[in-house]
Amino acid sequence: MRVQSIRGMNDLLPSDTELWQSVEDVIRDVSELYGYQEIRLPLLERTELFKRSIGEETDIVEKEMYTFLDNRGESLTLRPEATASCIRAAIEHSLINRSKAKLWYMGPMFRYERPQKGRYRQFHQYGIEAFGWTTPDIDAEIIMVAHMLWRKLDIAQHTTLEINSIGSPTSRQNFRTDLVAYFDKYRSSLDEDSARRLSTNPLRILDSKNPHMQDLINNAPVMTEYLDEDSQRHFERLCVFLGSQDIEFKLNHRLVRGLDYYTDTVFEWTTDLLGAQNAICGGGRYDGLVELLGGGAVAGAGFALGLERLIEVLKHSRFEFQPVNPQVYLCVLGDDAEVEGLRVAQQLRTAGISAIVHCGGGKLSQQLKSADRANSLLGVIIGASEIERRTAIIKPLRQDLAQQSVALDDVVDNIREMLNSTG
Ligand code: ATP
Ligand code: MG
Repeated sequence: MRVQSIRGMNDLLPSDTELWQSVEDVIRDVSELYGYQEIRLPLLERTELFKRSIGEETDIVEKEMYTFLDNRGESLTLRPEATASCIRAAIEHSLINRSKAKLWYMGPMFRYERPQKGRYRQFHQYGIEAFGWTTPDIDAEIIMVAHMLWRKLDIAQHTTLEINSIGSPTSRQNFRTDLVAYFDKYRSSLDEDSARRLSTNPLRILDSKNPHMQDLINNAPVMTEYLDEDSQRHFERLCVFLGSQDIEFKLNHRLVRGLDYYTDTVFEWTTDLLGAQNAICGGGRYDGLVELLGGGAVAGAGFALGLERLIEVLKHSRFEFQPVNPQVYLCVLGDDAEVEGLRVAQQLRTAGISAIVHCGGGKLSQQLKSADRANSLLGVIIGASEIERRTAIIKPLRQDLAQQSVALDDVVDNIREMLNSTG
């Protein structure tokens, strides 16, 4: 019997990893351009870390976590997101006690959700976090990082930014009270999810996608009317910053995001190139979270971006990605040629030129066919007569150019020149 993979956990095959790698390269570059530094975190954390930070009454903690007891009976959880881990590490290693920090991470996250297109049980996120700034300039910067990424990947025209402010915990509490009173009046019209959320996490009712709930939600109280002066000013400044950057955005009063820890700014990027799962990046400010996790009163802001969804967008966009093919394929005929071929290939690689030596023998026509399948630019042919004369044949494989015979010792120099002249 064959052992199958786990539902919702994907293998990434070689046909996809090249695209992933090129996206990861762009992500690294962009993070660096903005002065963010990479942090690598464990996949496993104490369950308590996520319960405390994400919130007990959220979808993630209520039903999406992979939690188990280890051999000593301690409850551990595969990380469903990395902001909490990031803060845990930053506190533990004193990265943010006295100084500010700009961090980024990338890697797998785990959520026990119903697998479907764009929704998996193991998926990957890239995220950034800025610790130590309370001002809206950093909210703007974080949004600009994502926008720069869209531009570098040539998908800016397919992305939409929605922003909202959910204010300070105090003003949100006032809003929450009125919101509960409002929905309570229409209790009989609430769907099952919303009825449950009314007592646990009423703000999340605003998030409901149920069409029958939309009228009710549209007439509900609006958070922005509850913002205190500081929050109002913070939000207005953010809008000014974004406007000055020509970053278009929509105000969405109903955007609350699924996690408890946000304060003031929340935002979400969606795309028109995906179907139902169209959110590619979400984030905001979380000023109380560091303290909640046992650190000092350090402000924070950041986002997380879903790589599977981003890659899917790229497959539907005009993003041009150049697959990396081996540049040289060496066809070797006979015992001595096989030895020579290994030597020349190794010289090529040392010179930074990727090379495949044909292994397993076979006729020249078969070897050339393999060279073609490998999409190599140049073939190098070494047969018995080449060995005798200490030469090799260099054969352009993707251009209609004549082949040439060169001294074995000059193969690397010749190839280097040819590759340079064709770019
Ligand atoms: P959704 O509303 O789609 O469930 P979310 O609010 O749970 O998203 P976040 O926790 O904000 O998502 O995570 C940020 C990003 O990570 C999302 O915008 C999405 O691109 C991606 N993401 C979240 N959950 C999954 C998943 N199960 N599979 C693939 N990507 C995901
Ligand atoms: Mg979710």
